[in-house]
Amino acid sequence: MSLRSVVARAVPARLRPWLRRQAGRLRAPFHRGSAVTCPCCGGSFRAFLAGGVRRREGVRCPRCDSLERHRLVWLYLLRRTDLLSAPHRVLHVAPEPQFHERLADRANLDYVSADLASPLARERFDVVDIPYPDGSFDVVICNHVLEHVPDDARAMRELRRVLAPDGWAVLQTPVHSDREKTLEDPAVSDASERERLFGQPDHVRIYGRDFFERLEAAGFRVTRDRFARELSVEERTRYGLRKGEAVTVCTPG
Ligand SMILES: [Zn+2]
Repeated sequence: MSLRSVVARAVPARLRPWLRRQAGRLRAPFHRGSAVTCPCCGGSFRAFLAGGVRRREGVRCPRCDSLERHRLVWLYLLRRTDLLSAPHRVLHVAPEPQFHERLADRANLDYVSADLASPLARERFDVVDIPYPDGSFDVVICNHVLEHVPDDARAMRELRRVLAPDGWAVLQTPVHSDREKTLEDPAVSDASERERLFGQPDHVRIYGRDFFERLEAAGFRVTRDRFARELSVEERTRYGLRKGEAVTVCTPG
């Protein structure tokens, strides 16, 4: 167990986001530079740090802990949408701290964040049972959640239900594109067995390419925006992005 995870477990959950923010603020000045820039926090650094569930070099922002996937989605939101400039009712499920800080108190947004446990979230509810009427939100952001949810079809239907007719949703999950069908087994509940089969102790499946069909079955029209490919090599390097990573954008089908 790493020192980082020992410290994380010793600190009450409600204090962890605050502690992470303070740690980032203390750490960032030591990494200041001009080689890379994090669009999430705006910091510029000599390099990104090692990070990720499977530890990789040069991926984590020294200040806000963003990884490639956070920076890609944030750049997408900044450049491809009017999320920060026009009025929107937003549902943010399992809010990423990097986005939450930038969205929670924006004057143009009517913002709801929700999670079963995260101290950042303002509301406690399960994504399979969203306590809002149909069409309540113009924007839904729900990233790296569905691979944790046993009844993902129900969660997808709920996300679709609360989305307004002209709304859009960003629904990122890990998708193994070399796999046609999703690997899952509801009988597997043991954490170590889940880790062996699905890659993390709290994952209940590995999505294959049929992830997008599942979204369509829930009533979404799905676009995979290969936003990173349109950026120059210099930009991808500067922002620390993966060329092949797409943004899954869903609208009512
Ligand atoms: Zn950052």
